[in-house]
Amino acid sequence: MERTFLMIKPDGVQRGLIGQIMTRFEKKGFKLVNAKLMTVSRELAEKHYDELKEKPFFGELVDFITSGPVFAMIWEGNNVISVARAMMGKTNPADAAPGTIRADFAVSVGMNVIHGSDSPENAQREIDLWFNGEAIS
Ligand code: ATP
Ligand code: MG
Repeated sequence: MERTFLMIKPDGVQRGLIGQIMTRFEKKGFKLVNAKLMTVSRELAEKHYDELKEKPFFGELVDFITSGPVFAMIWEGNNVISVARAMMGKTNPADAAPGTIRADFAVSVGMNVIHGSDSPENAQREIDLWFNGEAIS
């Protein structure tokens, strides 16, 4: 069964949105495999967003992800990688369709509440990076 890595970013945790966001994935029918609240080192943040290291906003992105606790999760289900991305909505909440997480809970492209893996290769890479072989159900 397909698995993806989702992370509620520091803005979502700080604003108390963990429960509402998890409820959406539970109601959809996806299965929670593992989850943890954690602070993120710069090293982990830089590895996670390695593909973006040449972007002008890379420094701000790493500053933001390391600014407070995040809620890291592994979810499982049919086509969970692409369906979770659809449920999240476009990167910029201003472009996200109503009913998506980013449209309903966020207003800025930097503080857009949630991350989701964008391909099977990145899902595997991110699960390994964030959960490092920890026992998972
Ligand atoms: P994520 O990887 O967080 O799930 P995404 O895949 O929709 O988001 P990416 O292109 O991977 O988008 O960008 C990663 C993150 O970098 C975005 O979620 C956003 O917070 C930030 N970001 C992207 N583009 C910009 C931008 N133009 N200005 C500022 N921040 C940006
Ligand atoms: Mg991305």
